[in-house]
Amino acid sequence: MTAYTPPSPGSKIIIVGGGCFGLSTAHALSLKKKYDIWVFDRLPIPATDAASTDINKIVRMDYADDTLYLQLMLEGMPIWRQWNKERAAEGLGPVYNETGVLFFGSNGKFSDYEKKSIKSITEAGYGHVIEHLPTPKSITDKYPQFKEAVENGYDIAYLNKDGGWCNSAEAVKHIYNKCIKNGVQFVLGPDKGTFEKFQEKPGSSGVKEVVGIVTKDKKVHYADRVIMATGSWTPGLVDISTQCIATGQVVAQFQPPQSLITSLKNQPVWCTDVSRTGYYGFPVNEGGRMKVARHATGYIAPRLQDNVSVPRTQVTHSGDTIPVGALKHMRTFLNGFLPQTSSLDVVYSRICWYSDSIDGGFVISPHPEYKNLIVASGDSGHAMK
Ligand SMILES: Cc1cc2nc3c(=O)[nH]c(=O)nc-3n(C[C@H](O)[C@H](O)[C@H](O)COP(=O)(O)OP(=O)(O)OC[C@H]3O[C@@H](n4cnc5c(N)ncnc54)[C@H](O)[C@@H]3O)c2cc1C
Repeated sequence: MTAYTPPSPGSKIIIVGGGCFGLSTAHALSLKKKYDIWVFDRLPIPATDAASTDINKIVRMDYADDTLYLQLMLEGMPIWRQWNKERAAEGLGPVYNETGVLFFGSNGKFSDYEKKSIKSITEAGYGHVIEHLPTPKSITDKYPQFKEAVENGYDIAYLNKDGGWCNSAEAVKHIYNKCIKNGVQFVLGPDKGTFEKFQEKPGSSGVKEVVGIVTKDKKVHYADRVIMATGSWTPGLVDISTQCIATGQVVAQFQPPQSLITSLKNQPVWCTDVSRTGYYGFPVNEGGRMKVARHATGYIAPRLQDNVSVPRTQVTHSGDTIPVGALKHMRTFLNGFLPQTSSLDVVYSRICWYSDSIDGGFVISPHPEYKNLIVASGDSGHAMK
């Protein structure tokens, strides 16, 4: 294990990956005004198949008893609101929509996840943001569109009023522009922006010393530090032992008819007994689309040479959608939860890849076997803060 020392002023720092980890790192470093910062990505930002690129992601503070992420969200919330103001000043729509997040339990009970979340949030002094909906009537009085959900057993809920969803592709663009303004340099594209391997100091024995990266066009880019923020691609690029695995998660977008739009638009993000069912969904967005997804064990795509799971996406397999079994499962779930949506046509679907860590926590650390190398991955499906 090498001891960590921060880079000295004037250091050149290469960040590989321009998703939310890479860009928020680049932005935070740029505020220090003492580093030469370069971001590499295999695609223009926002990369179409990055986990960070989507029409919406939940912004929530509800993390059972994991108060680290609650605290992170409490720090993040004012920044989301600030970004909305910055965008409004430029005549752009909000990136953050504070609709609240509605957590359902079932059969009159919350699971540990919801119970612990309420406890942690209350203990942090934010009990006032929780609105309890303890009876079927209290839910349907507020949200008549969940009448069938309540009848089918999703009959206890709470609304966390501090939370909602972000337009994550727009959020990525917003921070990308901020990085450019702050002098961060970008190298993007399938040849010049794609990391192929590390440039190591010749002859280093024991702990290897990273002195830069080699891109697909065989160019060497020297740096004092390299940060691998390559999301679910990370385990396929750098040995992070068994700490993270790329898992494919199911996402579908539906286009409800005009008759349903009003009720499905004026609602919070919903999470349906999520530690048991995995399902969550969003209000209809401005484009008239409703996204539903499932947080689950997911799929893996092991590569031949070493069995490491690597993302398979629509960039290389343009015809890929989601497995038919997964769609059937989603429709069956919707039939019991929001039956008015269970047979809507799918207008878009994809497998979106998490970098899943063992305990669901982010993996952000100097690499123990490579000097000058930091890994920032292990988003585990919840890093869009
Ligand atoms: C289905 C789904 C739903 C989600 N829902 C939520 C949610 O509701 N709320 C929430 O908080 N989070 C959610 N997440 C998680 C969130 O999207 C991720 O935590 C976050 O986007 C991870 O960001 P990242 O920067 O680590 O990875 P990514 O956004 O995937 O970025 C990785 C980047 O690395 C680049 N890259 C890869 N390989 C190379 C290479 N060789 N050279 C150069 N560049 C490379 C890629 O092009 C990409 O731009 C969800 C994720 C999925 C998949």
